[in-house]
Amino acid sequence: MKKEDCIFCRIVTGEIPADIVFRTERALAFRDINPQAPLHFVVIPKDHVETVSQLSNEFMLALGDIFRLTGILAGSFGVDQKGFRIVFNEGPDAGRTVPHAHFHFLAGRPLHWPPG
Ligand code: 5GP
Ligand code: ZN
Repeated sequence: MKKEDCIFCRIVTGEIPADIVFRTERALAFRDINPQAPLHFVVIPKDHVETVSQLSNEFMLALGDIFRLTGILAGSFGVDQKGFRIVFNEGPDAGRTVPHAHFHFLAGRPLHWPPG
């Protein structure tokens, strides 16, 4: 897929508006447009990467930023004690819809296990 056609790349460039809550040099966290929990953020590498199996150096560096942002989200939104869940959907069985690697940060209600 070309970057010009990728929704999340267009959020990175500002072409598509999003409620961005935190950004680092390599990663971005914004509110999910269709939240599945009271707190639902999408955390992405700024560079277009499609799958977790594309282990480029840039992606590995971005993963550090992404996990740092999840900690910052938890602290800032007051769920570091109650808890939260980080989800990565890959492929059709997991219901992945956007082909730009991203993590979901979900919190603010009890999260059932196993997930549906
Ligand atoms: P996936 O199902 O691929 O794991 O997750 C993609 C997520 O991105 C979905 O939860 C969906 O609601 C969210 N999403 C898709 N398009 C947009 C958008 O334009 N803006 C925002 N903020 N979220 C989006
Ligand atoms: Zn992209």
